[in-house]
Amino acid sequence: SLLWEHDPMYKDSVPALRARLLANENPYGPSKKVVSTISDAVSLGNRYAHSDAATLIEMIAEKEGVTKDHIMLGPGSTDLLEKTAIVRFLEGGNIVSADPSYMSLINTSRRIGATWKPIPLTADFSHDLDGMAKAVDSDTKLVYICNPNNPTGSITEAGKLKSFCKSVAAKTPIFVDEAYLEFMDKPEDNTMVGLVAEGHDVIVARTFSKIHGMAGLRIGYIVAQPERIESITDMVRSTMGLSVTSLKGAIVSVQEDTFLAECKAMNKECRDYVFSELTAMGYDVVPSNTSFMIFPIQMEGKEFLKSMFAEGVGVRAYNFLDKPWCRVSMGTMSEMEIFLEAFKKVTA
Ligand code: PLP
Repeated sequence: SLLWEHDPMYKDSVPALRARLLANENPYGPSKKVVSTISDAVSLGNRYAHSDAATLIEMIAEKEGVTKDHIMLGPGSTDLLEKTAIVRFLEGGNIVSADPSYMSLINTSRRIGATWKPIPLTADFSHDLDGMAKAVDSDTKLVYICNPNNPTGSITEAGKLKSFCKSVAAKTPIFVDEAYLEFMDKPEDNTMVGLVAEGHDVIVARTFSKIHGMAGLRIGYIVAQPERIESITDMVRSTMGLSVTSLKGAIVSVQEDTFLAECKAMNKECRDYVFSELTAMGYDVVPSNTSFMIFPIQMEGKEFLKSMFAEGVGVRAYNFLDKPWCRVSMGTMSEMEIFLEAFKKVTA
């Protein structure tokens, strides 16, 4: 479980942080071109942005190799995770996912009456696909897979995941959250989006919040079978939650190949540095494929967080496998140095 959520200590200390490493935000974005585009777009704010939404949908459809009716945009992928949960669980049922994993969709599902069937990750922190397949029954309305997984930063091998999706999606839709896909070595080999094009009942979620550095601008999308998207747009209007600024920003950002590659490279540099420093200190760090990493700590979680925040360093703490863990997001290299210095002091 996540330890800090809704803790006033966290809220009060955010403005004072020297290193904000708690929400897997991109410290370098949005790109300069996105910033100037958005500044210009503010004056268009008197108009609804349906045509910009249509433009972005077309661009994404082409990039993902599907037709436009396979794409739905949302103000952040959270919106689409939540809407999918609401549509699927209006009449109850169960949701199968890994544990620990990213809880947004699962929590919304539970809140409206779904039963959660958590399947522990394997020893190498990948999804236990056999265990998950066995947990699917006639009452399962959705399987949630986060790959790479949050909070562990670990991956499940693409070939195995594809076979799982192909066989299990015949029984129940599979939601694959790929928020951190672009930080992987070979994103194109690891995405499940090709399964959607092949007609499988898979829903892939992506976001502009991570590699694009647009977390506060709120934009993301899902790629799914048209009838899955219609089941949502039947209840809610798809483009009414979107702002002209984020849409125009996203239209530019999808074309920012150089900026995106630079973010990925700088993230990896920080990741390798922090991994080697922590490993040298004796910590058992889970190899990361994302913009964050996690490792067990020798200190009670809340106490640890309090001390780190007091040092002006925001990180997150979790409890699972009967021990406390620190999850640290990759910031700039100087923020990572501040993190390591504070971490050494706090755990000395
Ligand atoms: N999915 C995962 C795995 C995440 O880690 C996050 C944010 O941290 C989200 C989805 C939600 O991102 P957003 O709503 O900003 O697109």
